[in-house]
Amino acid sequence: MKVVLENLTKIFPSRDKKSGKEVVAVNDFTFEIPDGQLVGLLGPSGCGKSTTLYMISGLQKPTSGKIYFGEDDVTELSTENRGIGLVFQNYALYPHMTVKQNILFPLQNLKGKDKLSKEEMLDRALNAARLVQIDELMDRKPSELSGGQQQRVAIARALVKMPRVLLLDEPLSNLDARLRLQTREEIRRIQKETGITTIFVTHDQEEAMSISDVIVVMKLGVVQQIGEPQSVYDDPKNLFVAKFLGTPPINVLEGKVVDGKVYIGDDDVLDVTGVDDQEVYIGIRPEGLEPNDNGRLTCGLSNIEVMGRDASVVATNAASANPVVRAIINSDIRIDTTSQTIKFNVKPHKFFLFNKQTEERVYFEVK
Ligand code: ADP
Ligand code: MG
Repeated sequence: MKVVLENLTKIFPSRDKKSGKEVVAVNDFTFEIPDGQLVGLLGPSGCGKSTTLYMISGLQKPTSGKIYFGEDDVTELSTENRGIGLVFQNYALYPHMTVKQNILFPLQNLKGKDKLSKEEMLDRALNAARLVQIDELMDRKPSELSGGQQQRVAIARALVKMPRVLLLDEPLSNLDARLRLQTREEIRRIQKETGITTIFVTHDQEEAMSISDVIVVMKLGVVQQIGEPQSVYDDPKNLFVAKFLGTPPINVLEGKVVDGKVYIGDDDVLDVTGVDDQEVYIGIRPEGLEPNDNGRLTCGLSNIEVMGRDASVVATNAASANPVVRAIINSDIRIDTTSQTIKFNVKPHKFFLFNKQTEERVYFEVK
């Protein structure tokens, strides 16, 4: 089932009587989520991810705009009638019920033509439990489960009604690091197996990048960029998106373009064409800095952190917006650690320019 958002907007009245300023939580969001895909809604806390999800679920009404499931306009439809499965950060299981009873619960409320026989209900519950691999735990109470198992029960409960759309709001945030990794792979597997169109909200870029077919990066209620994770990473539209994606984060330095050369301080680091002289922010991915004795960018050398296959070179530069400049290199590459400085060449496809005022991308060609 495709999901279409059309000029979706949500404005909350002011909470603060003095300022009287309303909050535009979601601002004119238009997007068609293709059938059967997993879309990651990504952005810092407060950027409008949950509000978007709540509008899709029907828990909140848009101030303006429309929502379609397939060709059906569901904007005015109640949550119960939308055919969605919802999973939140806190698993919200009924503590006095067993796992089986928790999963059965949504089915027991079905009425009219949707009503199921007892056998059908049990069958569906067991299928959902198998899908999330908790069928061995059906008689336990939630208090007898780990966090990861509880979240699986919550996912099974969302799946048991065979929803048209699955909505997940930060479902992994309460899990420890290892379980988070494992459960996100599980969610991806379940989504692929069922083919349910899924919207996954997270503030964690690595999480969104690793499981999404498409990511939507938001900032202050406004969609910044939509695309496949790798293409957004490789081709960010503005400085915000460039900084939000990637660990370690992109290096940001102040610089300028003069006569077809990009300068960082006094170093001209790259020859370019098709760009006017101007002050810029320069973004260089950590994997885009190559140590080279004749490199064009000179930095102070702080230290080298070896991380197995890779090593992280920690350097400094007066033009850097961050305290350090970081390069990720193959750990086989030998660096003279007695030196005070290190020279790099930049890989042009890992090197981006942004307008100093608007912070929008400035495109160039390499000379
Ligand atoms: P996210 O999920 O990305 O962290 P939210 O969608 O929860 O962000 O919130 C977006 C913005 O809307 C925030 O500024 C938040 O304070 C505001 N907001 C959310 N819900 C309400 C509400 N019920 N009343 C007023 N403001 C709200
Ligand atoms: Mg939220």
